[in-house]
Amino acid sequence: AGLTGEEAQAQLQAQGVRYALASFVDLHGVCKAKAVPIDHLPAMLAGSELFTGAALDGVPQDVSDDEVATLPDLSSATVLPWRPDTVWMASNLQLHGQPFEACSRTILCRVRDQAARMGLRFNLGVETEFFVLRRGPDGELMPASAADTLEKPCYDLRGLLDNLDWLDELVRAMNGLGWGVYSFDHEDGNGQFETDFGYADGLITADRVTFFRLMAREITRRHGLIASFMPKPFGDRTGSGAHFNMSLADLASGSNLFTPEDGRAGWVSPLGRQFIAGILRHAPAICAVIAPTVNSYKRLVVQGSMSGFTWAPVFICYGNNNRTNMLRIPGAGSRVECRATDSACNPYLAAALLLAAGLEGIREELDPGEPNLVNAYRLSPEERARRGLTTLPRTLGEAIEAFAVDPLAREVFGEAMADAFIAFKREEWASYHGTISRWETERYLELF
Ligand code: GLU
Ligand code: MG
Ligand code: MG
Repeated sequence: AGLTGEEAQAQLQAQGVRYALASFVDLHGVCKAKAVPIDHLPAMLAGSELFTGAALDGVPQDVSDDEVATLPDLSSATVLPWRPDTVWMASNLQLHGQPFEACSRTILCRVRDQAARMGLRFNLGVETEFFVLRRGPDGELMPASAADTLEKPCYDLRGLLDNLDWLDELVRAMNGLGWGVYSFDHEDGNGQFETDFGYADGLITADRVTFFRLMAREITRRHGLIASFMPKPFGDRTGSGAHFNMSLADLASGSNLFTPEDGRAGWVSPLGRQFIAGILRHAPAICAVIAPTVNSYKRLVVQGSMSGFTWAPVFICYGNNNRTNMLRIPGAGSRVECRATDSACNPYLAAALLLAAGLEGIREELDPGEPNLVNAYRLSPEERARRGLTTLPRTLGEAIEAFAVDPLAREVFGEAMADAFIAFKREEWASYHGTISRWETERYLELF
């Protein structure tokens, strides 16, 4: 930090780095980049690398439009642990010297600035659930380890040990980058894992989650395996969430403002409750961003796992250490966990909208009402109606229409990006809905 381009180049060159990546994300949060030889680093940092927006999903640009420039953030520089001759940098995008409207990272920076003007710092920790699979003899996907067949594989030690070669490499890489891994385990699906690392400023965490997906894929690939962040690859196993653990700190002192005055465990301060209320108010629109695929909604169900529950939220509510709530206040309290977020989300857009909704809750001093303390999975539809418990969107189609009419969502994304997102996701939903599945023909073709 604080280095000139020439100084950064000299340092990286001395470390043996030969290439630099000006990386940014598309609508899906997937990395795109241009690579430059290291002696071009000063130019790259000054915005020399251009790309055509029309080549990417969801960018509101035509082939005839001018190219977009990447402005790499030197403080995000990350030497690839599996390829130490190459350094990755997260970039913001500019067009004609102005922030580019379809830049996810800029959208998060904007909301982060709003929080800063309110004297707040957004802290974020994201839990990374993902599957690690291999292809069987007939090309079918199966857990990385052939022995991984238990009906309840959660925390299975043998399952963990069988996968320790690639896990060790991944965890060492994360710790080498200073992320502070604090635990990892075998999750509830066969072939499913989670490697948790420390929380940080929301922008830093969004960069890390983006990079993590790339890294998990690359490291497991070197072991002949496939890492997948698809939310629900198998109908009968749990899906992969990316729980967002959020809190606000005082910008000046760094003290956590979600800590309740009386120190009560499993609870948050009045500010934290307002933050929760803002998110609950915008939950259907937020869902389109934090659960952004057709497949995401197959995860947000009560049934749909061999081991019983899915542990994924279905209802728009908050509460204590209870995994059926969309927003959970985990054990010690002082933070809010959004459980609806899945592994396929664009972490910048997800963080931007969650934070913006929380800030609205604070500005308007909203009240989230009473917490839900019961297992919402077990309530009958009538009982849920009596308690006023509403359901998260059931499909991408429903979620995207909620997004389209939500003024806050439009404001956070900006008109051009909101329109591009809506158009892309409507098409995604229509394309899915236009496909007749084998389930349908098997169920209906000869029935009628
Ligand atoms: N895999 C679950 C989900 O889809 C979460 C399990 C857990 O609580 O760690 O969100
Ligand atoms: Mg988990
Ligand atoms: Mg969690």
